[in-house]
Amino acid sequence: MPRKDLNLEDSLQRAEARWCQIEADTPELAAAVTLQRSLVRRIAGLTEALEQSNWTPPDVEATAIVTTLSSSRALLHEHRVDLPIEILEPGLHDLCNILANGGAGDAARHVDHVIQEQRLSTTSLLNASLTRRQNDIRTGAIHLGLAPDLLWLVAELTVGPIAHEFQRVILTNDGMDSKVCKAINAWDHGTCLICGSWPALGECREGDITLRCSFCGAGWKLQEHACPYCFSPEIQHELPTPGQPSLQLLFCEACRGYLKVVEVNEAIPSILLPIEDLATTASDVRAMERNLVRPPLPEAPLGESNDAGCAGSPITN
Ligand SMILES: [Zn+2]
Ligand SMILES: [Zn+2]
Repeated sequence: MPRKDLNLEDSLQRAEARWCQIEADTPELAAAVTLQRSLVRRIAGLTEALEQSNWTPPDVEATAIVTTLSSSRALLHEHRVDLPIEILEPGLHDLCNILANGGAGDAARHVDHVIQEQRLSTTSLLNASLTRRQNDIRTGAIHLGLAPDLLWLVAELTVGPIAHEFQRVILTNDGMDSKVCKAINAWDHGTCLICGSWPALGECREGDITLRCSFCGAGWKLQEHACPYCFSPEIQHELPTPGQPSLQLLFCEACRGYLKVVEVNEAIPSILLPIEDLATTASDVRAMERNLVRPPLPEAPLGESNDAGCAGSPITN
């Protein structure tokens, strides 16, 4: 399971090559590629700033990792991360502007404005995103008259490098404790063991499917013959997509959830995960035409709101 990312520059070069290929193969995705390119480059700038700073993810002890995973809890839901707000805040501002110019317009400018006016606590927003508390962000957005999906997106993009670094330190630790290794390999849930998100896609290598999270970059094994969302055995493989022989759709008769699965020779570098997700948009369209869904994010269990704030809208000031 441990994987080492290519260094940032190599990753960006691979990303650029992939974007050019998507633009050539699917001209209808050109605008989406342009936006994603700007976002990913700004996020890479955040990653670089983190690398050059004194910030490090928390050193979670082996016994704590084992306890958390064996009680079926995602690690980020249980172990607090101190956020370097001075690095993240300029990123949040820039990402709002990129989204504003990339089609979100005034809705994104409004988010930025509310943050500048400190009507919303950046720390609480980013913590809520890191621990995947979608309801808290939604409630806060509605309270402030912001577009909930946009606030969720911009927070997720900003704090993604933190989730990724937390994941990298835990899963690519060369001297990993054998009990930690066992607990990681025993993770048999559909949700990400690091952050609790559903997988963005599956990657198939020699018949085995690894689920991949595009928020933190983690990978974990799909349980054989079980739906990742509801564990029903009524999981179906659909024939490869026309024109994309290395892509198949896995879907569940019980919950109507679906998963895109791409054939790979090596693990997809984390930075490329959202790009592969975009490249396979046609599959999402076909799935939706058949009333298949990507289930909503599972809510973190109650009692995990770490941030004190106004009742009902803990991200607002
Ligand atoms: Zn994750
Ligand atoms: Zn299912």
